[in-house]
Amino acid sequence: MTLPNHDFLDYTLSKPINDAIEQVVFATGSAQLLGQGIIQLEPIAEARHSVVLSAGIHGNETAPIELLNELLKQILDGELTLSIRLLIILGHPEAMRTGERFCDVNLNRLFCGAWRKYSGQEVARAQQLEHSVAQFFEAHQTGCKLHYDLHTAIRGSEYEKFAVHPFTHGQPYQQQQFDFYAAIGLEAVLLSHQPTTTFSYHSYINHGAQAATIELGQVHPFGQNDLLSLEKLSKALKLLIEQGELSCADAKTVKLFSVVEVLIKDADDYRLKIADDVKNFTAFDAGFELATSNVSHYHIKQSGDAIVFPNVNLPVGQRAGLVVRQDSWETFQTV
Ligand SMILES: [Zn+2]
Repeated sequence: MTLPNHDFLDYTLSKPINDAIEQVVFATGSAQLLGQGIIQLEPIAEARHSVVLSAGIHGNETAPIELLNELLKQILDGELTLSIRLLIILGHPEAMRTGERFCDVNLNRLFCGAWRKYSGQEVARAQQLEHSVAQFFEAHQTGCKLHYDLHTAIRGSEYEKFAVHPFTHGQPYQQQQFDFYAAIGLEAVLLSHQPTTTFSYHSYINHGAQAATIELGQVHPFGQNDLLSLEKLSKALKLLIEQGELSCADAKTVKLFSVVEVLIKDADDYRLKIADDVKNFTAFDAGFELATSNVSHYHIKQSGDAIVFPNVNLPVGQRAGLVVRQDSWETFQTV
C-alpha cells in the first residue's frame, strides 16, 4: 500500500471505497490496513502492550483525529519507535467527510451488539469496528490491553477535558488509569454507574481492556484545532508508543463524579429548565426544578449536583441528561 506523505487521514478521506488489505513496512514495525480508517501496527520488538486509540466515532470531532494522524505519521516516518501493538481507528469516515456528528444514528450507541436494534449506515460500521477490535485483542500476548476513545464535545464544559470511566460491575478501579487521566491533563472523571453501548465500554466488558471515553474540549472543523491544547495527551501517547509506559501524575488533581440520576424524557413536553448552551458540569442549588413535564418534575436533591450531557431533542423514553455529584477521593478505592 502506498500512503502518500504517510497521511492516513487524507488517504481515508480521499478513498471512500477500499477493500484492499495492504501492508506498509517502516523502521520499527509493519502496518496493515484492516478497513477504511482502521490500521493495525505491529512492532518488530516484542510488544509491551496492545493499545487501541480511536477518534472520529463522531465524524466532526476533529482534534483527536488530527492528533492520531500525526502520531501515526511520526511512527511511519521513523520519528517514533514503536514498542506496542497499536490499532488506530478513525471511527466514522463518511461523517468525517461531511463534517457531521453522524449520518443516520449515533455510532457511539451501537456497540456491545446494540447495532442489531438499529438501522442506518452506522450499523455496518459498528460491526466492522467490533470485528477489528476483537481480532486485535484476541492476538494480544503480553502487557495490558488498553483502549482510549477520544472525543470532543458539542457544548462547553466547566471541566474542559474529562473522562467517562466504564461501569466496572463492582470490580476494583485501577489507580494507574486515574494517574494517567491526571497525566494527560484531564480535570474530571465521571464514573459510569451502569452498562452502556459505547465503544470504550465494549472494549472493557467484552475484551477486558482498561478503557475510557475521553472528552478533550470543543468541536472545531479540520485544520482549525489548536493541537497545543492536547500537548499533555500527545506527550503521554508518545511515551506509551515508544516505551510502553503509562504516564503518571497525581490522580487527586482530577475531580471525581458519580451519577445520582439519569434523566429520562418521559413525555413530549419534557424540558430542562436550563439555557440551551449550559455547560457540562454546571451545578445547581438544592430544590431547583431542573426538569419538568406533564407527568414528572425533577428537583435537585443536593446543592452542587450538576448536569452532564443534557439533550431533549430525542424520542420519548431516551436519556435527556445525567445528574452527577462530586465524590471524595478519601472514600474512593483503587488497586
Ligand atoms: Zn463524541
